[in-house]
Amino acid sequence: MGKKDNDDFVTFIKRVAKDVEEKPDHYFKPLFVFISDKMMETFTQEENALMNEIYTAIEQGESAFYKNTQMCLKPFTCDFIDACANGGDTGLLLKHF
Ligand code: SF4
Repeated sequence: MGKKDNDDFVTFIKRVAKDVEEKPDHYFKPLFVFISDKMMETFTQEENALMNEIYTAIEQGESAFYKNTQMCLKPFTCDFIDACANGGDTGLLLKHF
């Protein structure tokens, strides 16, 4: 389901939610995936490393974590793009809260 030109974020989310409710089999399919013990161990180590970075970012302050620049403009322009483009200027951030 794609975004229509006149969709705002809330309209799009509501349309997707309604479609998921009406056609759950389209969105949720049972899959069997082989995951070895080694793959599971690697996954766990990667998750732990990421969680440690998030905890460190929380301890150091609000602008200490990576930006996800692949999501700035898609599917919608991020509400925080002005703040991000200005290095996390708190005056701009405060406008959003
Ligand atoms: S503009 Fe939004 S999506 Fe892009 S890096 Fe900043 S917070 Fe993340």
